[in-house]
Amino acid sequence: MSTLITNIGELVTNAPEQGGSGFAALTGAALVMDNGLVAWTGPASKAPAADEIIDARGRAVLPGFVDSHAHLVFAGERGAEFAARMAGAPYQAGGIASTVAATRHATDPELRAGLSRLAGEMLRQGTTTFECKSGYGLTVADEARSLSLAAEVTPEVTYLGAHIIPPEFAGDRAAYVDLVRGEMLEACAPYARWVDVFCERGAFTADETVAILAAGRAKGLIPRVHANQLGPGPGVQVAVESGAASADHCTHLTGADVAALAGSATVATLLPGVEFSTRQPYPDARGLLAAGATVALATDCNPGSCFTSSMPFCIALAVREMHMTTEEAVWSATAGGARALHRPDVGHLSAGARADLLMLDAPSHAYLAYRPGVPLVTAVWRDAKLSARAKE
Ligand SMILES: [Zn+2]
Repeated sequence: MSTLITNIGELVTNAPEQGGSGFAALTGAALVMDNGLVAWTGPASKAPAADEIIDARGRAVLPGFVDSHAHLVFAGERGAEFAARMAGAPYQAGGIASTVAATRHATDPELRAGLSRLAGEMLRQGTTTFECKSGYGLTVADEARSLSLAAEVTPEVTYLGAHIIPPEFAGDRAAYVDLVRGEMLEACAPYARWVDVFCERGAFTADETVAILAAGRAKGLIPRVHANQLGPGPGVQVAVESGAASADHCTHLTGADVAALAGSATVATLLPGVEFSTRQPYPDARGLLAAGATVALATDCNPGSCFTSSMPFCIALAVREMHMTTEEAVWSATAGGARALHRPDVGHLSAGARADLLMLDAPSHAYLAYRPGVPLVTAVWRDAKLSARAKE
């Protein structure tokens, strides 16, 4: 069955044929979807017939958000840690250990319920594609079950056995690295598309990161890296040299890091919800864009450093705090995320793209930053099917 959405005030297409590789939009537009795909876009006056017609009444339609960085398989919560941090306590990577303990004790149904609640939140806020990492199990069995559960809700599954060194390996990190790139990888690779390492002081060194990414690559997994979040370090350079799809965080970059990203296919994925929630300085988005790097925006939804599932919130932060234009922020939250996940079928609304899209209760994409904190996403379609709708 074909569906025509007409009288669209602003249709954000990000279509390459409409002007280069960046943000692109039509006004007074219409879109037809059929068989799960976008079949046609153009002026509303020229829209072809369809089985079903939806009147957008001047509202904006955008590609569904692509959240390329999220940690959704976990148990427990860390609200008290957040409150203490806001009261002045520092953020340290070690807080992850408390979530690891809770996750190991949780049953599969408990983990599945949490995952499904967060995936539902994301969908209602317009996210139609999301990545999901393991990293709170850190045993062979717990990492494998985390990935198996993640694979129930998304194809973008990332093996993050190298999140931190778990407490039981504190005296022998080499043995843990061997486990991550050996037996644990063997058990996890069948469920995952990606391999990720937290390359940071207090987590994994450059050499350890290179070794783990290479082992993952040998099992068919594509690298991505948590890089340069807490301070300057080798993460970005390792990501670029390993051919990673994405270097995520990029909060503390040198000129050489920016140049390496700009000269590579590695996407710089910025996670401004983390800086908001840890009260750290924001990444230099303008510097990355000026150098020609590809920038994506994602939530990093996780129980410790940033517990938001909202891409609209991240867009508002990117505009207000990182000085991205509203066009750049929306592109990075859609097409940018798609680049970071090697997904040419999403993040844009050209004919042939997946019909993953959202309607705002607003006339333009700019309202996502202009009206921060307001639930503007009024309807979401995934594979051309209405998947979430606000009460009108
Ligand atoms: Zn993360």
